[in-house]
Amino acid sequence: MEQVAVKTTSSSYNVYIGPVSLGAVKECAENPKKILLISDKTVYSLYGEQVKTLLGEIAPVECLVVESGEEAKSFEEYYRILTFALEKELDRSSMIAALGGGVVGDLAGFAAATFMRGIPFIQIPTTLLAHDSAVGGKTGINHPLGKNMIGAFHQPAGVFYDPQYLQTLSGGEIRSGMAEVIKHAMIADPLFLEWLQSDSKAVMAPDGQQLAYMIKKGIEIKAQIVSQDEKEKGIRAYLNFGHTLGHAIEAYMGYGRITHGDAVASGMLFAAWLSEKVLGADLNYTRLKEWFHSCSFPQPLVPEMKTEEFLPFMLKDKKAGAGKIIMVLLERIGAPVLYSFSREELQALLDRYRKE
Ligand code: NAD
Ligand code: MG
Repeated sequence: MEQVAVKTTSSSYNVYIGPVSLGAVKECAENPKKILLISDKTVYSLYGEQVKTLLGEIAPVECLVVESGEEAKSFEEYYRILTFALEKELDRSSMIAALGGGVVGDLAGFAAATFMRGIPFIQIPTTLLAHDSAVGGKTGINHPLGKNMIGAFHQPAGVFYDPQYLQTLSGGEIRSGMAEVIKHAMIADPLFLEWLQSDSKAVMAPDGQQLAYMIKKGIEIKAQIVSQDEKEKGIRAYLNFGHTLGHAIEAYMGYGRITHGDAVASGMLFAAWLSEKVLGADLNYTRLKEWFHSCSFPQPLVPEMKTEEFLPFMLKDKKAGAGKIIMVLLERIGAPVLYSFSREELQALLDRYRKE
C-alpha cells in the first residue's frame, strides 16, 4: 500500500492509497467508541453497506446520507448532521467518517470541526477531485451569497483512498479531478507534467494503476505545500492556479452547469497565456492548449460570454482587494508567482486573449 505523510503545524497524518486497512483506521482514530458515517445518496448506494460493515468491526456505526451534489454543502444539511449526532449520542470519543467526494468531505469535516468543539474525522474519498479536497484540512459549507464562505481548518486523522472506488465515476467527473492533478503538476513538477502530456489516453481514461500514481503525485505536491503553509498565509495560494478565472466561470455560468475541473482547466490555460505575455515565460502555450483540447476539456470562454459581465466575478475572488486582482502565474512549469492586476489591465488582456 502506498502512503503519503502530511505534516502540518496543527497535526500529522497519513494518506493511504489502497484498500482501506482497519488497523490503520483504528490507530489514527485512537479507538473511537462510536462512528458516524456520512455519505451521499449515490456513493452510499454503491459502497455504503460495504464500508459500514468494515468500520463496524471497530465500533458501532450510525449512517447519515445526504443528497448528491453541491447543494448538500448547506446550513440545513450541516444542522441535520449535528442534530443526528446529538440524537445518536455521539461524544468526544466518537469519530466521523466521510465517504464520498469533495462535497461530503467538506460537509462532514466541518461537522467534525464544530461538533463539541471538534472531534476526529477520517476521509474515505471516492472521486479523483478529492485527492485535492481530502488533504489539507479545509472544511466548510456554502452560503447563498458565496461558495465555501463558512468553514474551519480541521485536519483529518487519516485519509483512506481506495482507487477501486473511482471505477464507477463518469468520464466528466474523472476529467474534473484530472484538472487538479494537472494543476499540481504545473505548479510543482515539470517531469510529472511531461508524463501526463505523453499520454492523453491515460488522462482521459486512466486505469487503476495510473490513477493510483496520479493520486499519489498530486497528494505529495499538495502535502508539501500545505505542510509549509497550513492556513494560507503564503505559498498555499499557489494552489489557486487557474482558479481566479475558474471560479468566475463557475459563478457566471451557475454552479453545477460546468464541473469545477472544466472551469479550472480554462483558468489554467488563461493563466499560462498571461504568464507568457506578462512575465515573458515560455510555457509552450500552443502545445498546452492543443493538449487540453485532446483531453476533451471544453472551451467555455465562448464569444457569448462578455468580459464585462464575468469580470466582476473575478473581483469577488477571496484574493482580490482594492480593485486589484491577484492571480497565480508561472515563471516556468514548477515555478509559480503571485501577480497583481488592475481591473482595467485584466479586462484588456482578457479581450486580447479571446481575439487570439
Ligand atoms: P462531489 O463530492 O459532489 O462528487 C461529484 C459527483 O460524483 C456527485 O454527484 C457524487 O455523488 C458522485 N460520486 C462521488 N463518488 C462517486 C463514485 N465513486 N462513483 C460514482 N459517483 C460518484 O464533487 P467533487 O468534485 O468530488 O468535489 C467538489 C467539492 O469539493 C466542491 O464543493 C469544492 O468546493 C470542494 N473542494 C474542497 C477542497 C478543500 O480543500 N477542502 C478542495 C477542492 C474542492
Ligand atoms: Mg479546486
